[in-house]
Amino acid sequence: LSDKLDKALHVLKGHGSITEVNVAETLKEVRRALLDADVNFKIAKDFTNRVKEKALGQNVLTSLKPSQLMVKIVKDELTELMGGDAAGINLSASPSVILMSGLQGSGKTTFSGKLANYLKSKKSKKPLLVACDVYRPAAINQLHVVGEQIGVEVYSEEGNMDPVVIATNAIAHAKQNGHNVVIVDTAGRLAVDEEMMTEIANIHSAIQPQETLFVVDSMTGQDAVNTAKAFNDRLNFDGVILTKLDGDTRGGAAISIKSVVNKPIKFIGTGEKMDAIDVFYPERMADRILGMGDVVSLVERAQEQFDEEEARKLQKKIAKNQFGFDDFLKQIQQVKKMGNMKDLIGMIPGAGKAMKDVDIDDDAFKHVEAIIHSMTPEERTSPTLINGSRKKRIAKGSGTSVQQVNQLLKQFDQMAKMMKMMQGGGGRKMMQMMNK
Ligand code: GDP
Ligand code: MG
Repeated sequence: LSDKLDKALHVLKGHGSITEVNVAETLKEVRRALLDADVNFKIAKDFTNRVKEKALGQNVLTSLKPSQLMVKIVKDELTELMGGDAAGINLSASPSVILMSGLQGSGKTTFSGKLANYLKSKKSKKPLLVACDVYRPAAINQLHVVGEQIGVEVYSEEGNMDPVVIATNAIAHAKQNGHNVVIVDTAGRLAVDEEMMTEIANIHSAIQPQETLFVVDSMTGQDAVNTAKAFNDRLNFDGVILTKLDGDTRGGAAISIKSVVNKPIKFIGTGEKMDAIDVFYPERMADRILGMGDVVSLVERAQEQFDEEEARKLQKKIAKNQFGFDDFLKQIQQVKKMGNMKDLIGMIPGAGKAMKDVDIDDDAFKHVEAIIHSMTPEERTSPTLINGSRKKRIAKGSGTSVQQVNQLLKQFDQMAKMMKMMQGGGGRKMMQMMNK
């Protein structure tokens, strides 16, 4: 989508003012881009019409270049279309009951875990996860695995096939044991059918949740809209969770769903891991769709993990070419804490495209850490010292091979170069913002 928009907006570059003709040309491209991203035809058409009105109306009053003005108008409209301000989640009751709904495979169980983890670590809540997908024994087990991973209790009842009873019992259990949030994971089927709808509606009316969330796989495109509508007609849900927004996902579902059911998108899922969850910010999503890079998310997430002082020291070292293996080790630890490196790089304007195909494997860090730990302090600060016999010693000490040591030395070299590069571009901006 963003490539197409880049092109569309390019049409405007070099023109002194927005005229009827170049607006029409640009908007044709914008509309095509939206359709390609699975935005409903009528929504795309209304959208471009609104942008056109605004663009022609504002023309004379602004000092921005026409292309910038168009980007701004398109972005503002997109933001508006996806819901304006970020919508929170209602946690006022104790316990607050949150019901997950959605098709099988949409990501309900994964998201239940992510949300529990988020509420526990960021909001100091004591959640209880409830397994109401009773048809597949593996589903209950999956939730238990998730619960164990994040240290959250999971309520399930072996042999009980009635999700309404399980959910009701779970809430009683939560009250007795001081859980202030109850997250009810339910069964979905591959397509909307009456049986599934009746079941979720029955659970819904029995437990009267504070939040009913509709979980949808953002890769399902136009189908997502129909599914959302079916669930909303039945449950009148409170918000949408857009999963699988990592990878090559098109943002179109976000735009269409919001317009069709008129419910806020509350969170997004950006990976399979338990920390791959983000609050949905329409404006950032608009930025992302428009290819500006999600700088705000990047900075926020980095800020949570990075110590400002560390960042400043590191910046100095990189500038003076004193970046060594100790710093590398620290970087690895930071990156591991921050989550998926690819995600992060994708948020840097301009870097997204270039780095898209670079794969960085989390497990690869294990060997790396062992190797660095086997180096002497001198070797860490001056890697050029590491000759053949030292390589052998390091390999032996870390239980790796000389090839692996060589590979790391090469990677380190690349990393040092990349850090320098980032300093010149998006990275510097990030550092500056962090230093504030
Ligand atoms: P459920 O049937 O609705 O409970 O769906 P699951 O939670 O079991 O998820 C189905 C599959 O999608 C699993 O393989 C998950 O690991 C995967 N998944 C869930 N959320 C995400 C996400 O945000 N990103 C990616 N890449 N995969 C996800
Ligand atoms: Mg499930």
